[in-house]
Amino acid sequence: MEYCLETNGLCKYYKGFKALDGLSMHVPKGAIYGFIGKNGAGKTTLIRLICGLQEPTRGSYTLYGEKNTGTGIYAMRRRMGGVVETPSIYLDMTAKENLMQQYRILGVPSTDEILELLKLVGLENTGKKRAKNFSLGMRQRLGIAIALCGSPDFLVLDEPVNGLDPQGIVEMRELILKLNREKQITVLISSHILDELSKLATHYGFIDKGRLVREISASEMEAECRKCKRLTVNDTKPLCRVMDEMKIEYSIVSDTEADIYSQISVTELTMALAKENCEILSITERGDSLEKYYINLVGGGDDE
Ligand code: ATP
Repeated sequence: MEYCLETNGLCKYYKGFKALDGLSMHVPKGAIYGFIGKNGAGKTTLIRLICGLQEPTRGSYTLYGEKNTGTGIYAMRRRMGGVVETPSIYLDMTAKENLMQQYRILGVPSTDEILELLKLVGLENTGKKRAKNFSLGMRQRLGIAIALCGSPDFLVLDEPVNGLDPQGIVEMRELILKLNREKQITVLISSHILDELSKLATHYGFIDKGRLVREISASEMEAECRKCKRLTVNDTKPLCRVMDEMKIEYSIVSDTEADIYSQISVTELTMALAKENCEILSITERGDSLEKYYINLVGGGDDE
């Protein structure tokens, strides 16, 4: 698999405090990678390192295969855009002026793409309104437009939906999906809003105390968290016969238990089983949300 970002035993110590402690993670090209961890787990530290804002204490990382210690890393960083902590926007400027300013900083003479960028993030009708009068969601989207000025193919977003209202969250989700699907931009999103991430992410990395505790694709996660009904019966042999006849998708757990994945009519199944002298003793709903999965992995408890 081709990786946009790969880290190998990455460490960042602050006066002996291990903010990152041997972190190894892999962001596949084309992914929306949900980077999940409690407050203080080390998410922003990782983002600061890969953006070149700080140097690792130990370990290494590669961007598009170029190692952080090599000279090729600078070219690869230009393929990256990021909104780290708060978006860096000029509050006294309009959306258009902010983008023009960013193009000036990048040394790009042509500003032809500005209207297209404003349309992309849904800010094309903000006219003379200054950024200080924007909603939080509009500011976040302007921050993303600024990050997109150099036409990056890897976008790093630190907590992009923090503090947004429900409408702002939906707009941010639609924007991220559009950038990923239509512009083929790989996105790394750090967040602890798990329900929202589960609507977007194709891959997940779970970080705790500066270490990556699990990396998993969304489809693997779905299989692990798959919703089902756990049926307890007196004997699974007749149960299997009946379920095969009814073309029900299932897996056998023990001599008396089976998990059913298809939508079923419990009455129909009970009646069919009664004919085989098979008795249902209990039915329970099973399956984890991303949140439950995360709690099982790193435990609940206080932040930091
Ligand atoms: P949050 O969701 O709160 O932003 P995070 O996962 O992004 O959390 P980081 O900002 O990466 O966490 O911080 C990781 C740990 O490193 C925290 O305990 C933080 O206090 C500590 N830390 C971060 N920057 C510094 C610094 N410059 N000096 C000392 N400690 C730091």
